[in-house]
Amino acid sequence: MEAYVEAAGRVIRSGRYINGPEVKAFEEALAARSGARHCIAVSNGLDALRLILLGFKALGKLSDGDEVIVPANTFIATFLAVTSCGLTAVAAEVDEATFCLDLSRLPISMRTRVIMPVHLYGNPCWDAEKLAELHSRGILIVEDNAQAIGALSASEGFHGNKATGNLGDAAAISFYPAKNIGAFGDAGAVLTNSDELAAMVRKLANYGAAEKYHHEVCGLNCRMDELQGALLREKLKTLDSVIERRRRNAALYDNAITNPDVVKPLIIDDGTLQVWHQYVIRHPRRDALRQYLSDHGVGTEIHYPVACHKQPCYQGHTLLKTYGPLPVAETLASRVLSLPIADADPRHIQYISELINLFEHGDRN
Ligand SMILES: *Cc1c(COP(=O)(O)O)cnc(C)c1O
Repeated sequence: MEAYVEAAGRVIRSGRYINGPEVKAFEEALAARSGARHCIAVSNGLDALRLILLGFKALGKLSDGDEVIVPANTFIATFLAVTSCGLTAVAAEVDEATFCLDLSRLPISMRTRVIMPVHLYGNPCWDAEKLAELHSRGILIVEDNAQAIGALSASEGFHGNKATGNLGDAAAISFYPAKNIGAFGDAGAVLTNSDELAAMVRKLANYGAAEKYHHEVCGLNCRMDELQGALLREKLKTLDSVIERRRRNAALYDNAITNPDVVKPLIIDDGTLQVWHQYVIRHPRRDALRQYLSDHGVGTEIHYPVACHKQPCYQGHTLLKTYGPLPVAETLASRVLSLPIADADPRHIQYISELINLFEHGDRN
């Protein structure tokens, strides 16, 4: 707490609130942490995704209507980023075991230009061989790393690095307060190893100007504030302990939940480092289980109750496509339940697990 007050005070006293040294220092720290060559701190995670897509458009690598494959089970921002940039979001099926985009059956078409894996719940979504092959055919790989800062994939990305956010062509990170590293408000970042994309994203986020009052492209205002930059420099130092606590909590749940009707999330031990943004179980009577936990004072969440392509905003939308039904994603929406993980202590986890183990019984009475 003291460190945050000091950081905020430093910015307030400096009188410099935009495009200053705090954000620059944060960008350097985040780039170093992920191993990526460039980091551009921006306003939020949605804008980070949008700036990447707009950047590729401005560089002539994408054009209106091009198809971007996105997993049907994700936060709506993944889809909104695509459609708000005039690109077509192709909702794709997810893998039941990892909740992430099923890379073994991607709906590739003649117009596919981007694949956007989401490292959902902190689970890395990567297949080096498969994605390298698609990449060699000119398809861009943009990671939505909003939920997985600090995670490691089992296999290397295109840059010989395993850190999510540095696997593909570019990645977006979110520092929404509830994310594993949360700002004191909205904030996000773009990571990339491409010099030209980095320069374009930086320009687009700053009114299209690299030099003040010289607007080379029609840009936006999507900068991160100095206040958030200073606070996030401090927050980023806690990343390893955040990951350690979440991993410990996931292991405790995994050990303590024994109810046979519950499908626990996969703990992957092939060298992958999962960072557990959410601990998501599945149950065929999810709503009843949620109510039962709530009756016992345990708050849970549902990520996400409606698959993105089923959302009202996308009914009849010309930039939303599905190639066939998506039964896995749609079934997950009715079964998933996120248990408390961020701040839960071991006793709390034991209590919640015992409640879950008694659910059948408790439910019948
Ligand atoms: C949070 C999130 C975003 C958007 O980030 P904001 O900072 O809230 O704009 C995008 N994608 C996923 C998967 C997210 O969880």
